[in-house]
Amino acid sequence: MIIAANLKTNLTRSATHKYMQEIEKYSKASSSEVIIFPAMTSLDNFKIDKTIVGAQNAYPTVNGAFTGEIGLEQLDEFGIKTILIGHSERRHILHESQEFLVEKFNYFKKLGFKIVYCVGEPKAIREAGKEEMLTYITKQYEGIDTTYENLIIAYEPVWAIGTGITPTLEDIEDVHTELKKKSPAPLLYGGSVKVNNAKEVLNLNNVDGILVGSAALYAEHFGLMIQYSDEL
Ligand code: PEP
Repeated sequence: MIIAANLKTNLTRSATHKYMQEIEKYSKASSSEVIIFPAMTSLDNFKIDKTIVGAQNAYPTVNGAFTGEIGLEQLDEFGIKTILIGHSERRHILHESQEFLVEKFNYFKKLGFKIVYCVGEPKAIREAGKEEMLTYITKQYEGIDTTYENLIIAYEPVWAIGTGITPTLEDIEDVHTELKKKSPAPLLYGGSVKVNNAKEVLNLNNVDGILVGSAALYAEHFGLMIQYSDEL
């Protein structure tokens, strides 16, 4: 199982340090792979052995004139070899196009990075029906090497992110079963996973783990989810 946390624009540098030490205890006691994506200013070496630290974003460059971005040079400083690409907040709030995401994907793939690549449909698309939804998600696979050995895919319906609303368990399993036909990569579910639904989600067929936002901000909640992954 893969249990990942996207901390987004939350926690200070010192709070993240404390958080990482807490999570490392759960991570060490677990057979699951635990990945944390802290805020950019909180990237560090953290003095941890098991938990993987990834970047929520980086520009496909070693360095250069890309104001507000970080590149490979900054990631290398902390030994970061994992990156999140295609998160819905970057697609929809920051308007990153599929073409640009493919450019990022290829850049970091060439460097051997572990890539957590997110896909997922907005509410209106989901409401238009299953066929429309799958057509929409299929476009998010365009240009992506779905056989890349260090690829992890996260299915995150946009309307479920940070809303407290989730698809039914049957719907999650159904979409995952469809998406599994597109890539052999591990497939995580993300979107309002909390302590009270994590176990059920992790138990579904074709769910290889979870990507958690808001609920992961509490180390003890995220720690419980790590423990659940070993109980299945
Ligand atoms: C996310 O942003 O990747 C996410 C899953 O957020 P939340 O758990 O808050 O829905």
